Amino acid sequence: MSDCLFCKIAAGEIPSTKVYENESVYAFRDIAPQAPTHILVIPKAHIESAAAVDGSNSALVAKCFEAIAEIAKAEKLDGGFRVISNCGDDAGQTVHHLHFHILAGKKMGEKMV
Ligand code: AMP
Ligand code: ZN
Repeated sequence: MSDCLFCKIAAGEIPSTKVYENESVYAFRDIAPQAPTHILVIPKAHIESAAAVDGSNSALVAKCFEAIAEIAKAEKLDGGFRVISNCGDDAGQTVHHLHFHILAGKKMGEKMV
């Protein structure tokens, strides 16, 4: 998608603070962190949201979660972390390229899962 912010970040056309990269996944620090550690994990290929995951692209979602586990180890998130993916307007999705927020470094409580 030529006008997609996260496609441009994954391609290096817009700067980001890289945390992790392999052939199919890119991860970078959120520009407006909501926890001491706030990392976004994306497939390099454009997928609109969790609602657009199907048999043709679900392997990329698995790759994202493999990356999440590696990032958690590298960032020493030993106290735990939360993974969130907002999907659609009611959830507050603002960037329409599938992404997983990793949030860690503070107690997040039990509200909203
Ligand atoms: P969501 O609201 O779930 O769609 O999450 C989008 C996230 O992208 C927000 O947490 C933003 O702070 C973050 N974001 C937007 N633009 C950038 C950027 N250029 N670099 C890093 N994070 C960004
Ligand atoms: Zn995209």
